[in-house]
Amino acid sequence: MSSTIQEKGQISIHTENIFPIIKKFLYSDHEIFLRELVSNAVDASQKLKKLAGFGEFNGELGDLKVTVTLDEEAKTITVSDNGIGMTAEEIKKYINQIAFSGASEFLEKYKDKLDEKGAIIGHFGLGFYSAFMVADHVEIITKSYREGAEAARWICDGSTEFEITEAERAEHGTDIILHMAADSEEFLDKNRLQTILEKYGRFLPIPIEFDGNVINNTTPIWTKSPSELTDEDYQKFYKELYPMSEEPLFWIHLNVDYPFNLTGVLYFPRVKNDFQIRREKIQLYSRQVFITDEVKDIVPDFLMMLHGVIDSPDIPLNVSRSFLQADSNVKKINGYITRKVADKLSELFRNDRAGFEQKFDDIGLFVKYGIISDEKFYEKAKDFCLVKNVDGKYFTFEEFSAAVKDNQTDKSGSVVWLYTNDLQKQHGFVESARKRGYEVLLFDTVIDSHFINQLEYKLEKTSLKRVDADTFDKLIDKGLNNESVLSEEDSARLKTLFEESQDIKIGTVTVEAMPTDELPVIITLPEFFRRMKDMSALSGERGMFGAMPDSYNIAVNANHPLADRILKATDPEEQKVLVKQSLDLAKLAQGMLSGSDLTAFIRRTVETL
Ligand code: ADP
Repeated sequence: MSSTIQEKGQISIHTENIFPIIKKFLYSDHEIFLRELVSNAVDASQKLKKLAGFGEFNGELGDLKVTVTLDEEAKTITVSDNGIGMTAEEIKKYINQIAFSGASEFLEKYKDKLDEKGAIIGHFGLGFYSAFMVADHVEIITKSYREGAEAARWICDGSTEFEITEAERAEHGTDIILHMAADSEEFLDKNRLQTILEKYGRFLPIPIEFDGNVINNTTPIWTKSPSELTDEDYQKFYKELYPMSEEPLFWIHLNVDYPFNLTGVLYFPRVKNDFQIRREKIQLYSRQVFITDEVKDIVPDFLMMLHGVIDSPDIPLNVSRSFLQADSNVKKINGYITRKVADKLSELFRNDRAGFEQKFDDIGLFVKYGIISDEKFYEKAKDFCLVKNVDGKYFTFEEFSAAVKDNQTDKSGSVVWLYTNDLQKQHGFVESARKRGYEVLLFDTVIDSHFINQLEYKLEKTSLKRVDADTFDKLIDKGLNNESVLSEEDSARLKTLFEESQDIKIGTVTVEAMPTDELPVIITLPEFFRRMKDMSALSGERGMFGAMPDSYNIAVNANHPLADRILKATDPEEQKVLVKQSLDLAKLAQGMLSGSDLTAFIRRTVETL
C-alpha cells in the first residue's frame, strides 16, 4: 500500500535561533569578544586618522585612544573610542543588517569555519556580533565625525528587536556597553580583563587604556624598517616577547608586500641538543592584532622551534585547517619563510665562518631538521650545513668528502664517512679508526640517525657507517689482502669454539684475517639494521625494527696470537676459558658486559692472573 501523503518543503531556520548557535560554537573562545570590539575601536580611530590625512576631516583629532572600562557593580564592560563614530543611518546599515542577516546566511557564511569534526578551528572573528556571546544587552552610544551629526543610542537584547534613540555624546566616537550575561560574569574581573587585553592587544597601533594604564606598545619593531633598527632594538623586543629566555642567536626581519603582505621578526633561540618543550612560540598577528600562537601550516614544521612574530593580513584566519593548507597564500608564505631562513644562514656562513661554527651546535638542529623535511631548504643548506669530526673540526659536506675520498672508500667505490654517535661508548673503535688514519665524524644529537639516513640518500656515492658497523678492512677497501695464517680446518675449528661458547646466541661468528695488532675478537653491529632500530626508537614506536633484538657479528682475528693459543690449548677447560675471556673482552669494548656477566668476567680474570 503506497502512502498518499506527499509534500515537499523547506525547513526554515529562524533568526531567533542564532544566539544559541553562536554560544555553542564559540564556547571555548568567549574571550574573543574583547579582541573584536577593541579591534573595531582601533579601526574606527585609524579611519579617522586617514580621513584627516585626506583632508576630509577638519575637526579636532585629539589624542586617539581606546579605553576599556570595567564596572563591577553595574556589571558592564565598556569599550570606548574617539574615532569616526556612526550616524543612526550607519548603525542601521552596518550593525543591524550585518547582525541580522539571518540564521541561514549566518551558517552559510561560517560553514567553512567548522572543521571535519564540526568544531571551530582556532580563533575567528564574528566582529561586533561576538558581543552577544557574553552580554545579554548590548548598547551603542555613538556620534559620527561628520559635521552636525547627532549622537545615537542603539540597544539590543540579542533578539531580532532593537531600538534606536537620540543620545548625548560630546565628541565623535563610540561607546560599546556590554551588559554582561549571568553566565559570563567571569569577565567582570580586573585581572582577567587585563590578561585578555594584553594577550590580544599588546601591539595594537592605537593606545589601549585600561585601569588608568596604557597596555600596549603601538609601534612594535616589525612595523619598522630594518634600517631604523639596531641589534639592541631586536634584543629588547625579544625580551619583551619572552622575558624568561636567554638571548637569541640571531634574527631575521621579514618584510614582503608582493604577492602577499607579511612582516615579522623571527629569532633563532639557543636550543642546544634537546627539543625544548615549546612554551615560547611564534605568534601570529593580523594588522597588529594577536591571532594565535598555533602557527602550524603557516610556518614550515622545521622552523616551528623559532621564536618571534609574523604579521600578515593575507592569512585567512576564518577557515578550517584543511582549507588553510590548500590556500595559495599560505603555501607562498611557507616557501618565503623557508627561503629567507636559508638565505640568512647562508649569509652568516659566508660572512663569518668562525661565528657560524660557534653557533652551529644551536643552529644545527634546525638545519638538519630542514634538510630532512624540506627539499628546497636542502638545496641551499647543502652548501652551509656542517659536520664535525671527533676533534671538533667542522667541515661542509663537500669539504669532508674531499678530505676523505682518497683514503676512505669501500669496494664499490663509495666514499665512506665513518662516524660515532657516542664517543665514550665507541671510544675503542674510534681510536682504532684514527690509528689507521681515518676521519671520524661525531653525530650525537637526537636528530642524527634521521639526518645520517637523509645524507646517504642525498649525497652521491657516499656511505655512512658507524665505527663499529663492521671490521675496518671490510668497511674500507685499502686494496690489502690480509693473508690468514690459519688453515681452513683450523679456522672452522675456531669458529665452532666461539659458537659453542655463547650461552645465548648474540650473533654470527666469522673468522677473519686482520692485522696482528687488532684485537683478538671484535663485535660489530651492522649499520642498516642498527640505524633502523635507532630511528624507530626515536619516533617512539617500536615498529618492525624496534621489536627485533640486536644482531651482532663476532669477528675472530685469525692472525692474532691468541687464536693460535686457543687452537693449541690441550686442556679443554683452559681452551674454554680463553675463548670466553676473549669474547668477553670484545663485549666489554662494545659496552655489552654488565651485571653477573661482568662479575664473572672479573673473577675469571683475577683467577687467570
Ligand atoms: P567588521 O569589523 O568585520 O566590518 P563588525 O561586525 O565588527 O564587522 O562591524 C560592522 C561594522 O560596524 C564595521 O565595519 C563598522 O563600519 C561599524 N563599527 C563597528 N564598531 C565600530 C566603532 N567602534 N566605531 C565605528 N564604527 C564601528
